[in-house]
Amino acid sequence: MGKPTGFLEFERLAEGYAPVAERLKHYQEFVVHLDDAGAKVQGARCMDCGIPFCNSGCPVNNNIPDFNDAVYRGNWRAASAILHSTNNFPELTGRICPAPCEAACTLGINAAPVGIKSLERAIIDKAGENGWVLPQPAARLTGKTVAVVGSGPAGLAAAQQLARVGHQVTVFEKNDQVGGLLRYGIPDFKLDKRLIDWRMAQLQEEGVKFLTRTLIGTVLPPGIANDAVRVIAPQRVLREFDAVILAGGAETPRDLPAPGRELEGVHFALEFLIPQNREVGGGKKNPISARGKHVVVIGGGDTGSDCVGTANRHGAASVTQFELMPRPPAEEDKPLTWPYWPSKLRTSSSHDEGCARDWSVATKEFIGEKGKLKALKCVRLDWQGGKMTEVPGSAFEVRADLVFLAMGFTQPIAAVLDGFGVVKDARGNASATTDGRGCYATNVAKVFAAGDMRRGQSLVVWAIREGRQCARAVDEFLMGTSTLPR
Ligand SMILES: Cc1cc2nc3c(=O)[nH]c(=O)nc-3n(C[C@H](O)[C@H](O)[C@H](O)COP(=O)(O)OP(=O)(O)OC[C@H]3O[C@@H](n4cnc5c(N)ncnc54)[C@H](O)[C@@H]3O)c2cc1C
Ligand code: SF4
Repeated sequence: MGKPTGFLEFERLAEGYAPVAERLKHYQEFVVHLDDAGAKVQGARCMDCGIPFCNSGCPVNNNIPDFNDAVYRGNWRAASAILHSTNNFPELTGRICPAPCEAACTLGINAAPVGIKSLERAIIDKAGENGWVLPQPAARLTGKTVAVVGSGPAGLAAAQQLARVGHQVTVFEKNDQVGGLLRYGIPDFKLDKRLIDWRMAQLQEEGVKFLTRTLIGTVLPPGIANDAVRVIAPQRVLREFDAVILAGGAETPRDLPAPGRELEGVHFALEFLIPQNREVGGGKKNPISARGKHVVVIGGGDTGSDCVGTANRHGAASVTQFELMPRPPAEEDKPLTWPYWPSKLRTSSSHDEGCARDWSVATKEFIGEKGKLKALKCVRLDWQGGKMTEVPGSAFEVRADLVFLAMGFTQPIAAVLDGFGVVKDARGNASATTDGRGCYATNVAKVFAAGDMRRGQSLVVWAIREGRQCARAVDEFLMGTSTLPR
């Protein structure tokens, strides 16, 4: 424990943001990091609890008290080693994780929790700047081959772990660049894509081979991002590799089949966000422009918030966000929720940039004129005991030139799982357990599944956890035993 009285002496120091007017002019990251002195203060606040709830609140079980202590003492290199011992990609989680560790922090019961995420980011940024993040190639190769389908955080974490114990890993990605939703989904203003390239270089030096524009399987439903110029049949992958990990994400978007859905101007969120990422990355211009338009985003999660931030950067005339669920409380009920993830109103940096938010609203109809969206017909909802009813006489219209449907993703692309003959669970995800013998293994011999493709739409940190744990399961399957951590 760095400073025994630190939690009594110091307040939480939050990371800052560049001013709204300034950051709306570009797509770069705009978080102002803690400096070394600020990070030291933050580290000093950690109480090194007998039972560190932060550690179990974190899906990758980061050893948080130890890196807090190392930062307090200025042992940045040790802090980086501690952080990397549980997390392959802290540069991602230090930026875009909602930080369930902080919700679990004991100090949060009666004060502001330790700023764990800001320390994570400070540690990895310093490690990167100082060249401490070096490739860790395996001392010996095993001669075993593993195919990873999908290059999101689950596939990448699994690939890195397996390469480090000597397996020859090939990652297949249907899109033109590696990264999954990190690359094409999450906007650049939340995550600088150069970080993915930087980490990929490390994986390549550790022996991981990437085959982009390569689709495993056959036909994809329309509307799913696909740059593939090669299609490889699942049977061939099964023949040529000793094990296969399916980490293809959950790409089926939830639709809103209300009258007028076919009107010009109604889009799934990723139809807007993916081309924007491509444009920012130097590709073609986004065919959807929100400039001067009245934009309505339907859905209140991360994806919806990213549409808000992107529409404002386009120069939208107005941005409104509707959520079906009721407005959550401003503050959590700590005694009831701690150390779990609480329900409370969350306002993202994109909301702060300009957005009218409304809750308990259902969209009944898309209204158009000459085939183009003009307005939405909505109704207010009353929620009682978890059930919703429409409030009589509450129908209203709102002007809308563009609507983005950001209501989540229902399941992986079924054709990919069907191509391998993998049994699906009730929600359409690859069926595989996460604990005990045979964990992460599907019903098909030597085929494993991890990340959103197994657990359904989730978070980057859960994808990293599943990729790591799945890698251990695959290593055990190939070698009979494994030294990889779970
Ligand atoms: C807009 C948006 C914003 C988000 N923001 C956040 C956030 O701020 N914080 C957070 O923690 N999480 C966020 N998430 C969720 C997070 O991105 C996902 O949970 C995470 O990326 C899942 O990782 P994954 O590796 O399982 O799958 P993905 O990242 O979806 O990657 C799967 C990859 O597999 C490829 N693939 C699929 N099938 C095939 C095939 N047959 N052949 C070859 N390649 C294939 C796909 O092209 C894709 O690149 C966000 C999601 C979205 C959509
Ligand atoms: S729960 Fe909070 S105070 Fe306790 S060890 Fe973890 S970060 Fe430190």
